[in-house]
Amino acid sequence: MSELRNLISQAELKERLAADPTPRQTISFYKYHPVADPKEFRDALYTQFEKLGVLGRIYVANEGINAQLSVPTANFEAFKTYLDSFEFLRGIRLNMAAEDDGKSFWVLNVKVRPKIVADGIDDPEFSVERVGQYLKAQEFNELTSQPDTVVVDMRNYYEYEIGHFEGALEVPSDTFRQQLPMAAELLDEDKDKNIIMYCTGGIRCEKASAYLMYRGFEKVYHLEGGILEYVRQVREQNLENKFKGKNFVFDGRRSERIGDEIISHCHQCGELSDTHRNCANTDCHLLFLQCDKCMAEFEGCCCVECRDWKNLPAEEKEGRVFSHGEEFSHSQVRRHARFFDIKSE
Ligand SMILES: [Zn+2]
Ligand SMILES: [Zn+2]
Repeated sequence: MSELRNLISQAELKERLAADPTPRQTISFYKYHPVADPKEFRDALYTQFEKLGVLGRIYVANEGINAQLSVPTANFEAFKTYLDSFEFLRGIRLNMAAEDDGKSFWVLNVKVRPKIVADGIDDPEFSVERVGQYLKAQEFNELTSQPDTVVVDMRNYYEYEIGHFEGALEVPSDTFRQQLPMAAELLDEDKDKNIIMYCTGGIRCEKASAYLMYRGFEKVYHLEGGILEYVRQVREQNLENKFKGKNFVFDGRRSERIGDEIISHCHQCGELSDTHRNCANTDCHLLFLQCDKCMAEFEGCCCVECRDWKNLPAEEKEGRVFSHGEEFSHSQVRRHARFFDIKSE
């Protein structure tokens, strides 16, 4: 059977969706569960979701499923009924996007991957099914008020930087697969403590908690549904909010403010700022923090070199390739920012 996929051009699909008045809802869900035949599962999902007008991106692997979807509101019940037809997805919690016009995706993509979250682990002894204990928001608040509790952030540095839980430990690495062993090493002396892992929506910290169990940690917890679900419960139940700053989200908004405070600094001048921008030099595109004053001064660029390059006439760029000076690296921009952190404390 050849791979099922949509053959109409992306541009045409995008146009079609923009013109389509059908009300839609953006949702996401994931589940770690052994899938014996991911290819067969994939084809079944694709066939049924296409019938229901579902758009979005799904990854299927032997270890489970991760889905970000836009579902026509009229077909929502039929969609849920279909999910319920798989025992392991019955009654699964669907995360609803907060600010949403439903036009988040314009094509349906269902892909088979080696893992739903790349972890670099080959050992068959490692099981994502053996995880630590889930915590709801209230339980998280209670446990974090106890001594001998360590909170660990399993997101990327640019997410941690603009917002995180009070006292949370950062695991400073560029990729999740590097973070796993690094977290275990960082926590080596805390083996007797309660360890709480968290991430944005729960998919990374759930695997991280399984990894710590695999490495012999015992009192391992993780925040169910991640920061997104924590914030929802805090608001719904009027609980104390222990998350400070902004939550980085992977859509057009980039981040959503949760606490009132700004906890990060402009990478260029060190003033308080938690606005992420991509460098306006499209050959650089670095994601960094920039205040409005520096935005004006550097014309949205991360450095003078980028600003100069951006302003060069096209004919002068011809045949040349942009690169930062040898010394430049993103971690250098960050160290710079850290320097300001220390100075301001
Ligand atoms: Zn600045
Ligand atoms: Zn740049």
